[in-house]
Amino acid sequence: MANDIRNIAIIAHVDHGKTTLVDGMLKQSGIFRQNQVVQERVMDSNDLEKERGITILAKNTSVRYQNIKINIVDTPGHSDFGGEVERVLKMVDGVLLLVDAAEGPMPQTRFVLRKALELNLVPVVVINKIDRPDARISEVVDEVYELFFELGANDEQLDFPVVYTIARQGLATNDPDVPGENLQPLFETILEHFPAPQGETEAPLQMLVNNTEYDSYIGRVAVGRIVQGSISSGQQVAVINYEGAVKNHRIGRVYTFEGLERVEVPRAQCGEIVVVSGLEDIKIGETIADKDNPIPLPAITVDEPTLEMT
Ligand code: GDP
Repeated sequence: MANDIRNIAIIAHVDHGKTTLVDGMLKQSGIFRQNQVVQERVMDSNDLEKERGITILAKNTSVRYQNIKINIVDTPGHSDFGGEVERVLKMVDGVLLLVDAAEGPMPQTRFVLRKALELNLVPVVVINKIDRPDARISEVVDEVYELFFELGANDEQLDFPVVYTIARQGLATNDPDVPGENLQPLFETILEHFPAPQGETEAPLQMLVNNTEYDSYIGRVAVGRIVQGSISSGQQVAVINYEGAVKNHRIGRVYTFEGLERVEVPRAQCGEIVVVSGLEDIKIGETIADKDNPIPLPAITVDEPTLEMT
């Protein structure tokens, strides 16, 4: 198990505050260590980050809390293609459902939430903008509960924890009557409720290609999660396609996500979400595997239009 990693997705309707929340988490990332004066560090960090101003939420972001790396992947708010949503959700173990305290859950996020519940992901509910004068906090929590129930959430999922936030001020609390001081209660809930990735770092490599991108500098890259084993730059690997055909390839560079950046690393372990170059004709849904022990991962949906257009 990769105890020092959590992989999560955020599901939110547009304008409910996803970018602001991740921005706040980035600002407070890495500052909560033992024996530190949290307030002071938050201010320092804010001042530094303010100059940069983060306006666009990256598809993949990572933040650190204590010694845990939290990879956050963005999900499309709604999607005409179920395949894309499923591929993103297959990289994570849990979802943060972010809901505006005045607007409540919106129908556009229903499809993504249903998919997350079907995939047995662990949910945490974040009620944001509790500072709004028109906030209806407990009603909105009831609406979320109702929605989970309608979507067929299991008992464990229905038992979701709720964190209340004012993302714009970088505040979170477990009790809406007692305002928070920082986002620590949100980080704590993430660590407690979302499971660490399963899989052994010592096992033969298996990585699912959840996405591919083209980078003008390094060419075609595969983005995905290392399901087991580890991956190193220059490593000889097997690529297994849908039909089970195996081809040998050599990995070019390996990158992980640190904050909003992609950072090149010599090696990445089981549970990490990585970008790898060097596999020129790699396709979504293929498995990158150990060259001596090539075992394919279960297939994923590639681009199947769904009937439900919400
Ligand atoms: P996104 O579309 O979900 O990424 O939403 P944004 O993060 O861009 O936020 C949408 C708007 O809500 C912006 O004007 C934010 O400043 C505002 N906002 C975000 N969090 C809060 C909050 O906690 N309270 C209030 N009152 N406004 C917020």
